[in-house]
Amino acid sequence: MTSSLLYYKHIVNMKNFKICLLIILLINMSSCQAQTNSTKTIQEVKENNYRKLTDEEARVIIHKGTEYPFTGEYNTFKDQGVFHCKQCNTPLFSSKDKFNSGSGWPSFDDIIGNNVSEIPDSDGSRTEIVCATCGGHLGHVFRGEGFTDKNTRHCVNSISLQFESSDQSPRDTAVFASGCFWGTEYHLQRLEGVIDTKPGYIGGHVKNPSYQQVCSGNTGHAEAVRVIFNPNIVTYEEIAKLYFETHDPTQIDRQGPDIGTQYRSEIFYSNDMQKKIANDLIKKLEAKGLKVATKLTVASTFWVAEDYHQDYYIKTGKQPYCHKYTKRF
Ligand SMILES: [Zn+2]
Repeated sequence: MTSSLLYYKHIVNMKNFKICLLIILLINMSSCQAQTNSTKTIQEVKENNYRKLTDEEARVIIHKGTEYPFTGEYNTFKDQGVFHCKQCNTPLFSSKDKFNSGSGWPSFDDIIGNNVSEIPDSDGSRTEIVCATCGGHLGHVFRGEGFTDKNTRHCVNSISLQFESSDQSPRDTAVFASGCFWGTEYHLQRLEGVIDTKPGYIGGHVKNPSYQQVCSGNTGHAEAVRVIFNPNIVTYEEIAKLYFETHDPTQIDRQGPDIGTQYRSEIFYSNDMQKKIANDLIKKLEAKGLKVATKLTVASTFWVAEDYHQDYYIKTGKQPYCHKYTKRF
């Protein structure tokens, strides 16, 4: 795993994303993948008032599928709290037992109580882990790899989990698209009061798209950044102002050297208040003579981008090539 990780980093530095993703998939698909021929019988869930699963959730949790590595919601997630079973809400893992294995899936070296059950695969090669309450598929457990003192790695699909934060501070969500999401995230994540930023894809018609798919310009998605913030510290308007001041909102379907609909300027609002604030800021810019191209669209599903896009400029120590601050308000 270590050598594959080094190779992964090497090719990321080469910015050769197509080859990168293909190799990552080939290397990792075997390490957390569920057995499709498992004989485990899932406990009947209908009469237990469990959460109704989406098709993609059911593919993993009921039919023992596997999400692609480096795409899950909680792979690089660092908040403090408890991860519950998506289906029955039983607490399964604590954030204090979470570590970065580099595998592309959330990894935990311990479980909460006896809430996770182990089932050896029929070929004896690996051990599946399921929720002890509802039987929902979680992933696999590996031992003897030496990642932590407990020498155990519960390799879990993010989609099988639901996080509950122990941080009681208020939270709100905003989504902004302004060209390459590396640069958008670079500026927005620096604001005090911003708790988390995630680059991803929104506004298209393909479920869980890959970077290559979005780059083709055929999925309809925009590269965007989802911002989780504490509204008692920073307001939506303050974040939106910084958004308008760190890209050129007059450019249509491009941002600097990046050309294509995926690089469009667009705000994906989650309520009427956000829509009004964004609209008022656009009017202010128009009053200053700017021909604003930024679209306002109600937020649809936000797909978190692959791991190597997260915190890109922090990880590389580089500077954004097409996002710089320009005072506009
Ligand atoms: Zn469960």
